[in-house]
Formats: sequence, structure tokens, C-alpha cells
Amino acid sequence: MKIAHEKVVSIHYTLTDSAGAVLDSSSGSQPLAYLHGFGNIIPGLENALEGKATGDKLSVTVEPGEGYGERDEGLVQAVPRSAFKGVKELAPGMQFQAQGPQGTRLVVVTQVTEDIVTVDANHPLAGQTLHFEVEVSEVRDATSEELEHGHVHGPGGHHHH
Ligand code: ZN
Repeated sequence: MKIAHEKVVSIHYTLTDSAGAVLDSSSGSQPLAYLHGFGNIIPGLENALEGKATGDKLSVTVEPGEGYGERDEGLVQAVPRSAFKGVKELAPGMQFQAQGPQGTRLVVVTQVTEDIVTVDANHPLAGQTLHFEVEVSEVRDATSEELEHGHVHGPGGHHHH
């Protein structure tokens, strides 16, 4: 079966950055399952998988515009240290949930001074060219419930209670 709109696709993948460092991988766990054509995964990867079939292997390079977007320096903000009351030690690399106009966002602390904490709300992979090694492990028809929800149920997908 070929990958097309409304198919459930399971893939094993390894994601590396331009320097070859592994950022993410499904190796050692179950494959990632997604619903093709519903924007469940980044556009550059979804487009490259169109028409592929079980067992196919491919290398895909995804530019930021087809991945997690360009970095937006407007999402880097200086926050008073007092906004982190109750946090004993603040260090670059720490992550926090922040409330913003568009709901909860994950921010990463990038710099800490005595009075000011700099946080970055960009997606950690924004602005990066991404390299995927992908193997298609399964392609199947979606159930009507999956199509209704716009995502995959079961192994590698969503679990409802
Ligand atoms: Zn669902």
C-alpha cells in the first residue's frame, strides 16, 4: 500500500542536525504513527513520504520553512528574576511552562543574571535544517474514528481514556 491522504503511516526515523548530531530517534522504541495529510508531522517530511510504501528507506533534508519555522527573535524575552519566585536555582537550559496570549508555551532559559532572566519561546528546532533517515514500517487505511479525530489511535499514536 502506498502512502497517500488518509493513510496511517508508521515510520522509524533518526533526526540529525547539520553537524550530524542525533537529535531524536525512534530506534529502540515503537515506530511513530501518524495520519498522512493532516499536518501531524512537519510538512517537509510529510511531503517526502507521499507515494512511498512499506519497506522504503529515504533520506530527507528539511529546511526551516518546511520544518519548525525560522527563529523569531521577538520570542526571546527578558523577564525580571522576581517572576521566578519559588525557583531556587535558575540556569540556562531549564524549561518552564509560560502562559501567553496563545496559551501555554514551553520556554527555555538562555541567560541568567542577578536581576534578569532571558527566556526563549522558539521551538528548539526552529531555524535548523533537519536531516531525517526514515524507514516506512507500515501503511494502512485509517479508521473512520481516526479520520474524525485527525490523528492515529493505538500503538505509536494517541491513547484516549
Ligand atoms: Zn482520537
